[in-house]
Amino acid sequence: MFASASIPERFREAYTRYEQRMIREVMVKAAWVLLVLSVFAHSSVLIRGGSLIEADTLWSYGLRVPPLVVCLIALAMHYSRFPGYHWPLVTLRLISLTAMSSVFGLLVFAYDQGDTAFRVLSELAILTVFCAGLVSLRGLQGCIIPLFLPVLCYIAVMVQRGHEPLELVASQFGILSAIGIATFVSHLQFRIRVREFVARQELNEISTVDPLTGLMNRRAMVARLESERARHNRFTQTFAVIMLDLDLFKRVNDSLGHQAGDRVLKEVAVRLRANTRQQDDIARWGGEEFLILLPDTDGKGATAATDNIRAALRDTPITTLDTSLNQTASFGIAVYDNKESAQRLVARASQALQMAKECGRNRAVVA
Ligand code: GH3
Ligand code: MG
Ligand code: MG
Repeated sequence: MFASASIPERFREAYTRYEQRMIREVMVKAAWVLLVLSVFAHSSVLIRGGSLIEADTLWSYGLRVPPLVVCLIALAMHYSRFPGYHWPLVTLRLISLTAMSSVFGLLVFAYDQGDTAFRVLSELAILTVFCAGLVSLRGLQGCIIPLFLPVLCYIAVMVQRGHEPLELVASQFGILSAIGIATFVSHLQFRIRVREFVARQELNEISTVDPLTGLMNRRAMVARLESERARHNRFTQTFAVIMLDLDLFKRVNDSLGHQAGDRVLKEVAVRLRANTRQQDDIARWGGEEFLILLPDTDGKGATAATDNIRAALRDTPITTLDTSLNQTASFGIAVYDNKESAQRLVARASQALQMAKECGRNRAVVA
């Protein structure tokens, strides 16, 4: 709710992926921290000469068990690579809910013992801040149940025992403020994180997207070619590139103006997208030159893809301002040849394109 309000629509999917990774990482670390804290708290009782099974502490140990069980289950699910994206968030909230329930359960217990909670207060404060930090990972949403439900249950139980609600709030002011402050600070951090994420995405967009057509720019395509080469060298899957250049495009600018030329370039980009597969990548390589990367495609497949694109440009006139024009393109196709460099592959496509131009334009040549 809070995140989606400040993240532009085009970055939402990337943010969801980033958030899922972050939540899983935090969940695993939180589970380990809680387990270690618990071992430390219990061993400190032993070091002080106490017994783990004293009658008055049995209750308090019982109250500490649920969060530990959740942590153990969470770690088992993580290390056994349990599938699914949503369970880390559910588990994280469960860790917080059970830990906060322990906090307030222990407070009721401390009251019953006539102990004003000094003995457990520091442990409870740590747990409280810890839980508030965890559940605020996604902003204030999701804090209500894990953090505030145990508080309400605590107040309900104590009121039923004859305590005044206001007196309870006053006596537990420390813990309640800890929840409030930790939630507030975590929410601020969350907002900073979202702003940083959006800034990073915008920077990434500027450095990888062509502003006129919205296609990849040359820099992004070079990186994409390198990763496809690496994939090919590992899995020996063939891939091809198509380089295309608009025919006699200078004339469009000269006769209709630069603005009309820009509209033609945008429309060409739309048609390229519409006539390629989801997994194909398209870049504006230079002024009116485009490069298409076709993964898992051989020469036959690349030629068929080129025929589709060529027909999509040739057969439907492009309307700009008040005129419509038939904008054709010439194509050079190159299939990746074992271990050649990306630069060499593109150079071969470019040479083939040059041949297509020399042979009369509006045609494709395979390198
Ligand atoms: P050929 O068929 O041989 O490719 O002829 P051409 O006229 O397309 O080739 P040339 O390289 O001579 O001209 C390319 C033109 O593309 C020149 C330039 O004005 C235009 N151009 C390059 N980038 C842009 C742009 O961003 N917007 C517009 N409107 N025109 C551009
Ligand atoms: Mg041209
Ligand atoms: Mg050109």
